[in-house]
Amino acid sequence: MPIEDNYKHRGMRRQLVNKVRSKGITDERVLRAINTVPRHAFLDNAFLTHAYQDKAFQIGEGQTISQPYTVAFQTQLLQIKPGDKVLEIGTGSGYQCSILAEMGANVYSIEYHWPLHQRAGNMLKNLGYQAHLFHGDGTKGLPAFAPYDGIIVTAGAPSVPMTLIAQLAPGGRLVIPVGDRRSQKMLLIMKDESGKMNKKEFDHFSFVPLLGQHGWENQ
Ligand code: SAH
Repeated sequence: MPIEDNYKHRGMRRQLVNKVRSKGITDERVLRAINTVPRHAFLDNAFLTHAYQDKAFQIGEGQTISQPYTVAFQTQLLQIKPGDKVLEIGTGSGYQCSILAEMGANVYSIEYHWPLHQRAGNMLKNLGYQAHLFHGDGTKGLPAFAPYDGIIVTAGAPSVPMTLIAQLAPGGRLVIPVGDRRSQKMLLIMKDESGKMNKKEFDHFSFVPLLGQHGWENQ
């Protein structure tokens, strides 16, 4: 079924963009993508009023669609160009994945929970976005298609999985929240052309826990 996107939705989306901009997001390409992707499509109809608030929201399986500001912050750190190959860990609703696709990235995304993986696939197809979606443990990355220009982890990790660093291309960027189960510091890890690593730390955020082998499973 086609997704209804009327003037009310577009108006609410413009306000959301203003909100995210006022919180410090400056990358116009990121703001344009938020202005374009219909976030209300990723929530149940009954929750329309929540779709354009700057808030995380339940999507089932105990998981959440990330807060728009958080999506914008992580996407801005990735600095993707059209055609970049990007790996996302935690497809969830598919919203972040759609933002990356809207910006022209060639997206590979992995989701741990089968029902979410399925639902996100249907939604992306409905919206006309192309992405390669996989079901499984994203902490192992996706070596078959490595290396990636960008890797984005959308769940909170206890530490940086070495598997993901290994799958970064020279010049590639990994954006990952790392901390305890309640609060995580956003990290940007860059691999330069000679393979040397460089790390930058940003604000604290609150994500659902990263599951799987190199997530909270073995802690
Ligand atoms: N990017 C999503 C955010 C979803 S919340 C969106 O835009 O909606 C984080 C997601 O990560 C959840 O759906 C959770 O099931 C998933 N997840 C947690 N651990 C994972 C792992 N090891 N591999 C893949 N997905 C994982």
